[in-house]
Amino acid sequence: MKFDVNVLQYLSKDDFRVLTAVELGMKTHEIVPADRVDQLARLKRGGCYKVLKNLLRHKLVHHDSTKYDGFRLTNLGYDFLAIKALVNRGVFVSVGRQLGVGKESVIFEVGTEDGTILAIKLHRLGKTSFRAVKSKRDYVENRTHFNWLYLSRLAAKKEYAFMKKLGEEGFPVPNAVDWNRHCVVMSLVPGYPLVQVKEIQNHDVVFETIISQIIHMAEVGLIHCDFNEFNIMIDDNEKVTMIDFPQIVSTSHRNAEMYFDRDVECIIKFFRKRFNIHYDERPSFSSIEKSSDYDKVLAASGFTRKDQEEIEKITQTNELNSESGNDSEATDESESSDDESEATGEALNERSLPDAYIEASINEMELLHVVDQVGGLVQYILLH
Ligand code: ADP
Ligand code: MG
Repeated sequence: MKFDVNVLQYLSKDDFRVLTAVELGMKTHEIVPADRVDQLARLKRGGCYKVLKNLLRHKLVHHDSTKYDGFRLTNLGYDFLAIKALVNRGVFVSVGRQLGVGKESVIFEVGTEDGTILAIKLHRLGKTSFRAVKSKRDYVENRTHFNWLYLSRLAAKKEYAFMKKLGEEGFPVPNAVDWNRHCVVMSLVPGYPLVQVKEIQNHDVVFETIISQIIHMAEVGLIHCDFNEFNIMIDDNEKVTMIDFPQIVSTSHRNAEMYFDRDVECIIKFFRKRFNIHYDERPSFSSIEKSSDYDKVLAASGFTRKDQEEIEKITQTNELNSESGNDSEATDESESSDDESEATGEALNERSLPDAYIEASINEMELLHVVDQVGGLVQYILLH
């Protein structure tokens, strides 16, 4: 089903405030009790329930009354909060057609004020990951963080930090523009994913460029971990750009060599199958001189080692459930409510937030310069 964001133009400041209150409530509740939403939103004139009904109508929140009367954000609700924040910041003014869909993300074109087209990646960590994690509960120690909003945000934060770092190091990656919540804004990459390309003129050059990127990344202390024909873009001049960085690990990771070899093997296998070209030699991980830049990147980006450990827990559990390790099995993107509530894991413990925290968050909402009209978001189409 397609969704036209035109309706979002009619959202008021109160709508936005209540939507943000639901988001805030989800820090402690999987389903936020209705009176909790009311308490957090602190609408001057009251009427929170009426606003929630409007949000429901636009599918920005989901109503759940199985245990108690409560609400949670939908993907669309979370998307909207991020998009709104980025629009308010002036990063872009419009959202256009869908560029791609990955295992755990959806990518759209966005347009800036001066007409430049960029790409926005909306992370959807949770659907496949949570299903996997759910069956391996023991791996998850801190369940209060076990939440799709939190994880999708972590993935975006990480992707932005590494894309920026790799760009600064001269790697052929999209230019990292900005991020908010679960969204990363980056430059638009010309061309197509390698998987769609049936013919290339200079196989050897392309192949060697790709392999040398894997080696060079290891030299700066990083392994892509999902380096394959889905995450390499190639343009008409056969220039290669790599994308998709949330699963990067350090070369000091305990399974680093395995990840490195797997990335290399994916490329070799693809060139053999698609272009019938055989490469016998393999770069040897142990003979590469690696720097420990990874830790410096972490320190500089605000993306902490703890963040990384959280992500690794999920990735690792995913691997235990599916051996694929690449994008080849895109999952169905349908958002049935049952499906998603299952995917969000068990209900979080109810506990109340300290008042000072609530005050600070409400102030933060005010700082977002909420305007009554969204404006500009004309052609925002989402798959549901
Ligand atoms: P996932 O992590 O879900 O695999 P990707 O980052 O690989 O997501 O993006 C999915 C698809 O979206 C890519 O295969 C590609 O077709 C498209 N895409 C991603 N980023 C860009 C970009 N910056 N410019 C153009 N297309 C992109
Ligand atoms: Mg991908």
